[in-house]
Amino acid sequence: MNLMADCRCLTPPFDYRDFDSVAVGVDETNGRFGEVTIETCKVCGRKWLRYFVEYEAFSRSGRWYRGLVTDEIARTVQPASAVAVLQSLAWRFAGGDYFESTGFMSTDPVVVDPW
Ligand SMILES: [Zn+2]
Repeated sequence: MNLMADCRCLTPPFDYRDFDSVAVGVDETNGRFGEVTIETCKVCGRKWLRYFVEYEAFSRSGRWYRGLVTDEIARTVQPASAVAVLQSLAWRFAGGDYFESTGFMSTDPVVVDPW
């Protein structure tokens, strides 16, 4: 994998203005409200599945993941399947207050519940 290619969609921190975003919906699994978005890079056309969740009861709980997905997955992913898709990838970007990071490459399990 040549992950550190030049494209800005592979180089955190990310800027929403570099992407065309389409809302997939809200994942309410386990009572969370995860915002699921497909973001297409305006430069290279890569499609990213983005998941964002935070918990008001837990300070510094906000976190996001974004994983590179195929066109087919981008077309068919549902809010409730987004975490499983992200988990199935070999790696993903993660960031947010929870990680105290503006974005890093991660191979760790996807953690979207507060407990
Ligand atoms: Zn790109």
